[in-house]
Amino acid sequence: MLREDHKTIKHEFDLWHIVKGVKKRMLQSRNTELKEWVRMVSNHLWYCVCTCDGDALLLKEKWTSILHHIINVHEWLSAEKMLKCEHEPYSEEDGSSRPWLERSSKAFGTLQKVVMDKRLLKKLDKVTEGIHTGELESIHSLYTKYVPKRKKFTEESFQARLAALDHNHNIDREQAQTKKGALQFKLQYSKPVGGYVVKAMKTPKSYNFRREIMVGVVERCLSASSMRSELAEHRHIDAEKEKRTLGAHKGLVKPSKEDAVAHHLSRFANK
Ligand SMILES: [Zn+2]
Repeated sequence: MLREDHKTIKHEFDLWHIVKGVKKRMLQSRNTELKEWVRMVSNHLWYCVCTCDGDALLLKEKWTSILHHIINVHEWLSAEKMLKCEHEPYSEEDGSSRPWLERSSKAFGTLQKVVMDKRLLKKLDKVTEGIHTGELESIHSLYTKYVPKRKKFTEESFQARLAALDHNHNIDREQAQTKKGALQFKLQYSKPVGGYVVKAMKTPKSYNFRREIMVGVVERCLSASSMRSELAEHRHIDAEKEKRTLGAHKGLVKPSKEDAVAHHLSRFANK
């Protein structure tokens, strides 16, 4: 049981390390075009491991398919198991707004080297080897904790989230007043009315929520020195919980520590 748990943790760390290496190599290239894809590519790697069912060939074909996707090619013939992307087809608008790379670009050449790196592919083989269904679930829960379930985590979805935060934080603004206390209005063109309408002018927007997010991020970084320690802490809590429930399963009632120690000492004294 314990050995199995350790194995899972080891795979998670291995995988974490591999993804970190890929990110690092992409960033080291200092290629601005490639930089836009770092997050998506690292999410893709997690996604591939989590959905390959322990099949090394499938994992590698999924992983290397990023080289098609990134140049806006979503179906191909040069593979055995993965012959198309797994995302929904893009609308024309959605498709045209993504920062696709050109096959002949420097960025693509660099990514190709990172993705097809022999040592990386070998490591992926190893990661897959020991992962069984149960472990996959555990890795998957880690994956969904740190990256959203959707495979593509785009700039657009970031913007949508920020827009929602902005909206929610500014929804209850009061009507603006002049220095003398008169309510302020504005004239605004209304499409349904087909003319100008008078609207209450609101007080200026507040962007304090940005600060709150930054403070939250910093606090989180300070409280958990690293992803590893945070994960280890979670594991520890789970293990403690399991220990407690194991005793309860066997119908044991936990005695008070003082009683148990006194009992232990009395046995020792009688010897
Ligand atoms: Zn695609």
